[in-house]
Amino acid sequence: MDADAVLDVAGVGFGPANLALAIALDEMDSADKAVTARFFEAQERFGWHRGMLIEGATMQVSFLKDLVTMRNPTSRFSFLSFLHTYGRVVDFANTKTFFPLRTEFHEYLAWAAGQFENRVSYQSEVVGINSATGPGDVEAVDVSVRVGGRDGTLRTHRARNVVIAVGGRPRMPEGLPESERIWHSSRLLDGAQAIAAKEPSSFVVLGSGQSAAEAVDYLHREFPDAQVHSVHSRYGYSVADDSAFANAIFNPEAVDHHFAASENVRQSLHAYHANTNYSVVDEDLIRRLFRTSYLESVTGRRRLHFHKISRLVEAAPSGDRLRVVIEFLPDGSTTTIEADALVCATGYLRADPGPLLGDLLPRCRRDGQGRLLLDRNRRVVTHESVKCGIYVLGSGENSHGLSETLLSLTAVRAGELAEVLTKELV
Ligand SMILES: Cc1cc2nc3c(=O)[nH]c(=O)nc-3n(C[C@H](O)[C@H](O)[C@H](O)COP(=O)(O)OP(=O)(O)OC[C@H]3O[C@@H](n4cnc5c(N)ncnc54)[C@H](O)[C@@H]3O)c2cc1C
Repeated sequence: MDADAVLDVAGVGFGPANLALAIALDEMDSADKAVTARFFEAQERFGWHRGMLIEGATMQVSFLKDLVTMRNPTSRFSFLSFLHTYGRVVDFANTKTFFPLRTEFHEYLAWAAGQFENRVSYQSEVVGINSATGPGDVEAVDVSVRVGGRDGTLRTHRARNVVIAVGGRPRMPEGLPESERIWHSSRLLDGAQAIAAKEPSSFVVLGSGQSAAEAVDYLHREFPDAQVHSVHSRYGYSVADDSAFANAIFNPEAVDHHFAASENVRQSLHAYHANTNYSVVDEDLIRRLFRTSYLESVTGRRRLHFHKISRLVEAAPSGDRLRVVIEFLPDGSTTTIEADALVCATGYLRADPGPLLGDLLPRCRRDGQGRLLLDRNRRVVTHESVKCGIYVLGSGENSHGLSETLLSLTAVRAGELAEVLTKELV
């Protein structure tokens, strides 16, 4: 055991969700009420989807939905406060947008994270969470942390509560492992940088969502001599619904509505409003890509190719390149593309925190679909012998609604949890 003291809270992951929690706890602390928290993050330093920090890409959420403002508009950790620190408030206002550049929002998150260095351990992957008090009542958990990468050393930290916020895992098409030439979109920038010196002349991008469209646009701009093939199972890109009434699905009260609803109503809500987030693209980007494609049809210099109603059949090494076979679903005909790289913008799987929960897992309840059952406070419902709290942020889309995996309610979620933890502990 490394830590002498038992932590009140051990946080697993230090992305926006747990960063917002660290801030909320900090802001709720007072002289006689202080929660001891430490966060463990697998990455070497703070990073938010670094592989997709494409120059010019913008946020899909208002800067007012930053780490704090929806909970505490006077917080010193707001996006505005960050702009103020760097003397950019006036210029940002003149851009007349609510949607900052993604690179700038990353800078903001890193700036906020930098103020919690003393409460975060980087290069620290949590590999297990087990009862610290044996098979009887669980008064505390032991969090096993591998420090320093794959061959690092194991350390244990004891805590009364654990908050798991590990985000999503890249989802690859079945049977298609990543390689030097096959990348999930989360590695887009690294992959493109690594291949640039080989003067690539052809790319294939799978997918119809925002990341797919961004990857197509980026590769087309970045490699002006390369062909870019965009493969869709749909007819093409669909617009993300960010209209005012639909956007209310991301309001704080929508979580209560979703949580209270029956399984049928939850599923309907998800189906009605999935197009606020899933397999949809910002309208501006769709317009830009269509215009580029049209321009190429006029000039006859075609580099952008859309393969609609198609699916990937095969991606096999072919000399130093890839042989990518695509099927046109209506008639089964196939097209073969010799490509330098295949980008799979095939989304993310919400990580199931279950495997981390070691000997606690049999004492955790699951819903009919096998997912960990969460109460409204996002505490895993457990056998009564588990006295310590196991909380999950970002995995309860089914129980808490569409906003759960996104940034819109990050500040509010963190505030709710910080309040629960502060009340329980002090
Ligand atoms: C390219 C991209 C752009 C996006 N843009 C938006 C947007 O504009 N608006 C929006 O609302 N949402 C957006 N999203 C959705 C995204 O889920 C959220 O932005 C946000 O990342 C969720 O924060 P999180 O902390 O839950 O998860 P993450 O940001 O994924 O953070 C989880 C952290 O946990 C760490 N971790 C994982 N396992 C362990 C472990 N075992 N031990 C220690 N650390 C671990 C990871 O390294 C990671 O740093 C975007 C997603 C992507 C991929």
